[in-house]
Amino acid sequence: MTNKDGTALEAMAGDGGYQEEKYLGNYLRFKMKREGKRFWAGDNISDYITEQDKERLIDEATEAFELVLDRLLIDRESDPNSHGTARRLAKMYFNEIMAGRYDPAPDATAFPNDSEERYEGMLVVRSELRSMCSHHHQPVNGVAYIGIIAANKLIGLSKYTRIAQWCARRGTLQEELCNDIAREIMRATDSENVAVYIQATHGCCENRGIMAHSSLTQTTVLKGSFRLIQAQRKNSLTISNYNRTLPQDEKTIN
Ligand SMILES: [Zn+2]
Repeated sequence: MTNKDGTALEAMAGDGGYQEEKYLGNYLRFKMKREGKRFWAGDNISDYITEQDKERLIDEATEAFELVLDRLLIDRESDPNSHGTARRLAKMYFNEIMAGRYDPAPDATAFPNDSEERYEGMLVVRSELRSMCSHHHQPVNGVAYIGIIAANKLIGLSKYTRIAQWCARRGTLQEELCNDIAREIMRATDSENVAVYIQATHGCCENRGIMAHSSLTQTTVLKGSFRLIQAQRKNSLTISNYNRTLPQDEKTIN
């Protein structure tokens, strides 16, 4: 693991061969590969990166975006609007639209919920989400409804949204994002009973491809007793459909 006090380069001192590498980004990729650490667009890799490293990685990404603009035949030297674009893109990726990959999890101080007066009900928080699809790097905008049945720990209400946004600010698939938020909320609250519902619009369906401006994608992840409730509902739905097909006196299933 990277020594959080030093830079990733220092942490790899004595790690023969890798010091020859010119780019810190390459060092880190090799290191994560060697250690079996997955670094997909939706993965958090903050254990491998210090704040100091981030500045250097932004410099390296700027250089790479300059090359992309050159390859797109955009005159970034004479065009005043394209002059600083490569750096703007690099900073935007690291500090904003993909910040959830590089920043550690938000602090979510937990408060005990174990007195006689403890809250045992359900809590639903509506969180606004801004994300980006990992296929096209197009914006994904929507809301998540996070439902939880309180366990022995409670976290501040704003923390649900902070956690959801930390998961969202990466390259994501909505289905995976739903799972990620559920997992992180379960971790922060110690509750096994968590449900996450997301509805979002996808830039990759609106701005390109099918160009569908009012499409909405909905995903749901149910854990613990939420899953049980759903199974019971499904069951009673099936039974009521079955009953509907029978003559009145044969409706024996309740
Ligand atoms: Zn897409």
